[in-house]
Amino acid sequence: MKIPNGHEIIGLFEKFSPKNLAVEGDKIGLQIGRLNKKVERVMIALDVLENVIDEAIEKDVQLIIAHHPPIFRPLKNIMTDTIPGRMIEKLIKNDIAVYAAHTNLDVAKGGVNDWLAEALGLEGTEVLVPTFDTKLKKLVIFVPVSHADQVREALGNAGAGFIGNYSHCSFTGAGTGRFKPGADTNPYIGKTGELEAVEEVRIETIVPETLVKKAVTAMIKAHPYEEVAYDLYPLDNKGEALGLGRIGKIAQTTLGEFAEKVKSALDVERVRVIGDLHDKVSKVAVLGGDGNKYFSHAKFKGADVYVTGDIYYHTAHDAMMQGLNMIDPGHNVEKVMKKGLTKTLQQMCQDEGYQVEIFPSEVDTNPFKYV
Ligand SMILES: [Zn+2]
Repeated sequence: MKIPNGHEIIGLFEKFSPKNLAVEGDKIGLQIGRLNKKVERVMIALDVLENVIDEAIEKDVQLIIAHHPPIFRPLKNIMTDTIPGRMIEKLIKNDIAVYAAHTNLDVAKGGVNDWLAEALGLEGTEVLVPTFDTKLKKLVIFVPVSHADQVREALGNAGAGFIGNYSHCSFTGAGTGRFKPGADTNPYIGKTGELEAVEEVRIETIVPETLVKKAVTAMIKAHPYEEVAYDLYPLDNKGEALGLGRIGKIAQTTLGEFAEKVKSALDVERVRVIGDLHDKVSKVAVLGGDGNKYFSHAKFKGADVYVTGDIYYHTAHDAMMQGLNMIDPGHNVEKVMKKGLTKTLQQMCQDEGYQVEIFPSEVDTNPFKYV
């Protein structure tokens, strides 16, 4: 076990939730402080308010990973007798770094929207609003027949060869590989200075751009040659679409009963409901945060009800006229990310042998009370 530095923790986090998944113009990444330091305690927060910073100081935290970026609009000044200035001062004085993971964490597979969908019991979920096409590469490897199985297996296990729900997809053709080992070589087959012809196979498979490094490293490890011949081609095929929100099925119920389920599953006191409480619902769309502008996606994809926060009066009218039921549990339900990300990052750090405590902030940042 080793104590990681901030870069190592964020390196792991960005494998799960890469920055390039964020929607354009979002303010993500390291916002305050530094990562080149040992990190023994990480706190996961939804919002960075002053009482959240005080909690981090009290718990001797070196890094906060927050969903909502504390610096969203450009700062014009940092005056430490104002609240925003004082917050930054406290963070810097206590050497606490703040890293924001906003829409990239919404879009990430297994991120905010999946945690919400899971809490609501959605089955067979798909992306509601595609925002990102995964780029694909073709990977071609030349390998002696004896090691073909081993290489195919390594590629598949590293995530290459996924087509829909099929894994380990590849194509293999036979041929002859020729090479002449030069001086200072230690060939697996053949002798220095002599032209060699070997029965080889050409294995081709498809790999998402994000997994190329992992797949190539695994393939080279499984390959017997000193110098491995392989080609990597860009493809025009569209990869898996990632995006905001999820849509899936639940066992049929009424809008009224489902509203109760939303309250208990997302731990909220009240929800606002648009639609007839007796309506039957089974297809559910959910989008964390403010999902006003995406309600037509929910309607178009055939949702019986759309669960999202911050619904405006006029969006509610538009949805009502289009016959789309809506449930607004508030923006704060994104607090599911505190436990969700804690668990995911704990697992990744454990697999890496990092000795670090990761825990959710205990401050309730919901500004609303019901009276
Ligand atoms: Zn949000």
